Amino acid sequence: MASVSNTVSMMGVGHSKPLQPKKNPISDDYRITGSVLGLGINGKVVECYSRATQDKYALKVLRDVPKARREVDLHFRACQGCQHIVKINDVYENNYSGQRCLLVVMECMEGGELFTRIQERADSAFTEREAASVISDITKAIAHLHASNIAHRDLKPENLLYSRKDEKGILKLTDFGFAKEINTFKSLQTPCYTPYYVAPEVLGPEKYDKSCDMWSLGVIMYILLCGYPPFYSNHGATISPGMKKRIRNGQYEFPNPEWSQVSPDAKELIRGLLKTDPDHRLTITEVLQHKWIADRTTVPQTLLMSAQVLKEEGDVWIAVQEEMTNALATMRVDYDQCVNIKNLHDSNNHLLKKRMKRDSQEGEAMTT
Ligand code: ADP
Repeated sequence: MASVSNTVSMMGVGHSKPLQPKKNPISDDYRITGSVLGLGINGKVVECYSRATQDKYALKVLRDVPKARREVDLHFRACQGCQHIVKINDVYENNYSGQRCLLVVMECMEGGELFTRIQERADSAFTEREAASVISDITKAIAHLHASNIAHRDLKPENLLYSRKDEKGILKLTDFGFAKEINTFKSLQTPCYTPYYVAPEVLGPEKYDKSCDMWSLGVIMYILLCGYPPFYSNHGATISPGMKKRIRNGQYEFPNPEWSQVSPDAKELIRGLLKTDPDHRLTITEVLQHKWIADRTTVPQTLLMSAQVLKEEGDVWIAVQEEMTNALATMRVDYDQCVNIKNLHDSNNHLLKKRMKRDSQEGEAMTT
């Protein structure tokens, strides 16, 4: 059976060739079982088996709308050449329960979610060196995405899954529902945003989308090292105004006893990732170069309290996840507004108008 790489034409940066999934019924190639692997905002992810190989896969069904096409397109391109991103094996365009759907066949992540695995460790033994190895794997996934000018923008614990239950399981990132391709070339070309008008910190909106992922990495690293999040509202489901303020102000601590034995290098890296000003936050390249990541095999093998805390605080975990989801949603909106700055054509700046006029005259001269 041909893999998706032969049948799905993926868009390159600046190209607009649409996604071309297979049109034959998925049931020709896969046997779909009723077994649910997980629940997401878009519905269930269910188990299916390849008829050709009998291998198990995970099937995600999305309503066939442009947003879903973008998600699948970005996910497929992103998973090429990075072992820390969940692979897409096939994509089908079928009618499913009376609706046009995209059926995404992914490798089956049998090992479950990152923190569940740590929580379920019988020995509760999780060391700082192991934490560094986990963060290094997530860093590799983000580095791969950012190098391809893709920001994930929804990096959170439930989107980090292990391929296998045993120790050979590889940690991988999934769910590209909020991923965004940063088309630097386009953003500089659109008449709304002009390189010589906007302030340097606003130029390059890609910086803000990517810095969203860096903040998430900081939160995940913090939880990994102590078992609870840096900003916690105690209010459960929705993000409280107090928590929003704490996130904005970067108010978090490294309380004892959980943090007393954690290395200064780890704390320094977290501080760099949780900077409130996205301009001051570390980039993925800087994280790769940080000694806690670059020299992770020499990170102390200090026993952390995170496994035990995660076990004890299991019932608040859903609230923690919801808070992170809400914080990321707020951040995406904030950063989107951040780049929605003054339309050039509405500007009253005299010099600018002169420059625009000159540019348009030059443009006309070139086309005549
Ligand atoms: P949504 O975008 O609808 O939120 P997700 O892609 O996050 O859906 O998937 C929802 C859940 O399904 C995940 O949290 C996970 O538990 C499970 N899941 C997703 N992809 C896989 C996979 N490839 N293998 C096994 N389980 C998966």
